[in-house]
Amino acid sequence: MFKLYNSMGRKKRRFKPMDENSVRMYACGITAYYSAHIGNMRTYVNQDILKRLLLHDGYKVVHVQNITDVGHLASDADTGDDKIRAEAEKEHRSMREIADFYAGIFIEDMKALNIMVPDVMPKASEHIPEMLNLIKRLSDKGFLYQASNGIYFDTSKFRGYGKLTGMGFKQLNNSLKEGARVEKVEGKRHATDFAVWRFAGQDEKEMVWDSPWGRGFPGWHLECSAMSMKYLGEQFDIHCGGIDHLQVHHTNETAQSEAATGHRFVDYWVHENFLTVDGKKMSKSLKNIYTVKDILAKGHSASALRLFMMSANYRQGLNFTFEALSGSESELAGMYSLMERLSSVQGRAKNDDTAEFKKSLRSMKKEFFARLNDDISMPEALAAMHSLMNAVSARLGSGKLNRAEAKAAARAMLEMDSILGLQLGGHYRGDAPPLGKEAKALLKEREAARKSGDFRRSDEIRDLLREKHGIAVEDTKAGQSWHRTPG
Ligand SMILES: [Zn+2]
Repeated sequence: MFKLYNSMGRKKRRFKPMDENSVRMYACGITAYYSAHIGNMRTYVNQDILKRLLLHDGYKVVHVQNITDVGHLASDADTGDDKIRAEAEKEHRSMREIADFYAGIFIEDMKALNIMVPDVMPKASEHIPEMLNLIKRLSDKGFLYQASNGIYFDTSKFRGYGKLTGMGFKQLNNSLKEGARVEKVEGKRHATDFAVWRFAGQDEKEMVWDSPWGRGFPGWHLECSAMSMKYLGEQFDIHCGGIDHLQVHHTNETAQSEAATGHRFVDYWVHENFLTVDGKKMSKSLKNIYTVKDILAKGHSASALRLFMMSANYRQGLNFTFEALSGSESELAGMYSLMERLSSVQGRAKNDDTAEFKKSLRSMKKEFFARLNDDISMPEALAAMHSLMNAVSARLGSGKLNRAEAKAAARAMLEMDSILGLQLGGHYRGDAPPLGKEAKALLKEREAARKSGDFRRSDEIRDLLREKHGIAVEDTKAGQSWHRTPG
């Protein structure tokens, strides 16, 4: 049974999709005018874990994530420039070039972090007819009015506006006013009202469209409603996004979608928390914004970054430091080394407690998935994985682990990695060819040298095995053990 925290209602609920076998999932994508930073990417790693868990549980998942290439204003309110238009002017490029360039970088970063690329990544600029259609439905139902710079949604007309926040209409309006985030728009009725269509200025030539409401471009919130409903239907299972989207973006998506259709929009709202750097919010002025490429350029691996991002529950904040990242790097090295050692276990000894050992592996693996099924409690799940690794290492160290047990341990690790996505499979060669004659003879000779106290010869052979045969030898209490080195 999978329990998932639902922001709508603010409690954990048993997850039950509308269709028995498939889950429809939408995630707010990037606005393509800058390189996403590691905080943005943590959100997508967490969504990827949710998706992988659903796949592991046997569901088919249809995953849609938009790319905003128009309509996202620089200000939270309804004034100011479109972010992409502003960046295009700054870089002296077209809006299309800017959006394509940064969307390309984003997809590269997703792939580096082993995030499964969504099934559909619709671009806002390619879905203008769907958006105009949605505006028409809202207009026909009397939810819209015209203000000086666009067509607005009247939030006072939607019963239950703000239900996602737990605040009422009045309270939300007051909170926006207090936050001083509202600049005056002539003709706008309430602080919470938002533009579904913005009128274009005379000088705006690119990414503007004719419409029955005048020449202009869509509002950002409208994009997500129109595109999610196009690809997933008017009602779907999961809508994900960063916690910063809850109060305005998702609240407005909900209002306009439900106002248009007359029924519930989404069953489960899932919100991911932030990443801070050295205890501070990432910002240009603090120069503490890192992209995935910045991290890789410093010699860290993308898998270690991914593992670091899993070190807190998705609903909790996480603080990035290079020290913590190095910790994840070592943790990952431990996982890789265990997989390599498991690859080369050759012993065929009959252990009388094999059944018991395999049973304990199963129970630790079960614990791993049980923690994940409890609202994706990742740190606890990783702790269960480490218990399993410790048990396997101890048995390896004592020289007892035989080939069949090693295979069972590796299979458990790989199944857990189907969620973690840390590429453990690349370090497991369970089907690697057996040792050649020469290597076998060297291992035998080394064992004999050690027994007779000839450590110089034993070290010589150790180096030879590593360099010539790609075999690493370790001395354990139970004698020498070996594994193949990667590459
Ligand atoms: Zn969205």
